[in-house]
Amino acid sequence: MATEFDVIVIGGGPAGYPCAIRAGQNKLSVACIDEWQNRDGTYAFGGTCLNAGCIPSKALLESSELFHRAQTEFAAHGIGTGAVSMDVNAMQARKGKIVKQSTMGILALFKSAGVTPLQGHGKLLSGGRVEFTGKDGAKSLLSAKHIVLASGSTPMPLKNVPFDGSQIVDSWGALDFTEVPKKLGVIGAGVIGLELGSVWRRLGAEVIVLEALDKFLPIADQAVAKEAARHFQKQGLDIRLGAKVTGCEKAKDGVMLQFTDAKGAQTVVVEKVVVAIGRRPYTAELLGEGTGVELDERGFINVDHDCRTSVPNVWAIGDVVRGPMLAHKGKEEGVVVADAIAGKAGEVNYNLVPSVIYTAPEIAWVGLTEEQAKESGRAYKVGAFPFMASGRARAMEAANGFCKIVADKDSDEILGVHVIGPMAGELIAEAVLAMEYSASTEDLQRTMHAHPTLSEAMHEAALNADKLAIDIPNR
Ligand SMILES: Cc1cc2nc3c(=O)[nH]c(=O)nc-3n(C[C@H](O)[C@H](O)[C@H](O)COP(=O)(O)OP(=O)(O)OC[C@H]3O[C@@H](n4cnc5c(N)ncnc54)[C@H](O)[C@@H]3O)c2cc1C
Repeated sequence: MATEFDVIVIGGGPAGYPCAIRAGQNKLSVACIDEWQNRDGTYAFGGTCLNAGCIPSKALLESSELFHRAQTEFAAHGIGTGAVSMDVNAMQARKGKIVKQSTMGILALFKSAGVTPLQGHGKLLSGGRVEFTGKDGAKSLLSAKHIVLASGSTPMPLKNVPFDGSQIVDSWGALDFTEVPKKLGVIGAGVIGLELGSVWRRLGAEVIVLEALDKFLPIADQAVAKEAARHFQKQGLDIRLGAKVTGCEKAKDGVMLQFTDAKGAQTVVVEKVVVAIGRRPYTAELLGEGTGVELDERGFINVDHDCRTSVPNVWAIGDVVRGPMLAHKGKEEGVVVADAIAGKAGEVNYNLVPSVIYTAPEIAWVGLTEEQAKESGRAYKVGAFPFMASGRARAMEAANGFCKIVADKDSDEILGVHVIGPMAGELIAEAVLAMEYSASTEDLQRTMHAHPTLSEAMHEAALNADKLAIDIPNR
């Protein structure tokens, strides 16, 4: 085994593995160390995202959404199915297959880019050295000109409701249920809590979501948050705001959660609990003595705008550094760092990190919310278009939600785009591209959009910003 490299990446999640691949593409010698172990003890690249996050959650969201639509929508198309049933084990097996295909694919990508995969633990030592502990426990000393830390994050525990791995679980546990719980308690109405709550609700669980904050989806544009709350309520997600969980007790048929809200002290008994209150950076056994890598007060590795740590030639990317904990943000950082190491130019545009919530309707946004535009004190204008007026959305039986554009009133530059509706996560890509090129609403207005497509909603919202929409009365 080679022990000297140009680059060693510690962590093979969606930040680390693209960094290693780009380093290989840049003709640098590179090793990627990853210690992820699945429940059966097998090692797998891909980190949280591929093994226990983005990919398995989207697999279950797709299955549960199809199940739900078969029950509620097919009849409108004239399709009779008889009684629709769900085999949870088959659904889980499909998910497992998709995860495996994705994680094994990384090994093939490493091979084609010349990346050395090392499965085991990596620990940064001083002087450009890394201690690698292999699967068999054997230790070896590696060295590299540049070291990239991409160790990711782990679920935040809740002191009063400790994980027990069966009744009280984290997001990974909630992706692996083998039966639909009769009643599910979700602590946290963030992106992960809403997605997982949606999966099990659609499959028949009674779902109560307890959220400590008084405001629903405070990070989203509030018109979108309001629309989302209405749909989730209709779907039967019982979302309680201002509900602070204070403790739990094992009950006969599950767990009794204690919480306080505006009405005072309350309890609810649920079969299973998912704690989804956020994630925290993971740096356990990552930094050896005297490396000089600084952490901030919340445990994130301190980096500058370009992902340089406090130590020359040591970089850090992904969930373990500041910024939104999103796979695509980590991927961009990984690629930019690998290019910077090779002497190429590049920069992550942190103002244009798209956010997506894969519920139904889907929610996606980029840039400033209307509230943020207002707070900034600038003059702004808003254009919006409801999917109810989109022929394609109606044909899809998915005419819910809207597309909204916030733009600077004077320069016409697009400041933010917010979509709630069918395929919002796909539609937002147009907005990101437009904003990356500082597009104005007029640029979008003058761009032809195919008919009938959902993307026409973006076009019409841009037109509506100047009261020029064709397919709705302008207000
Ligand atoms: C349920 C769920 C759904 C999500 N859905 C989405 C989504 O739809 N879209 C999205 O953008 N994001 C989503 N996320 C977030 C996304 O998974 C993370 O932002 C992303 O995985 C972070 O990538 P990363 O490479 O920084 O870290 P990770 O994916 O956590 O990978 C870090 C890797 O490093 C390994 N490692 C850590 N320390 C060491 C060490 N010392 N030695 C060797 N290996 C080490 C870990 O084992 C792991 O394999 C979701 C997360 C969850 C939990």
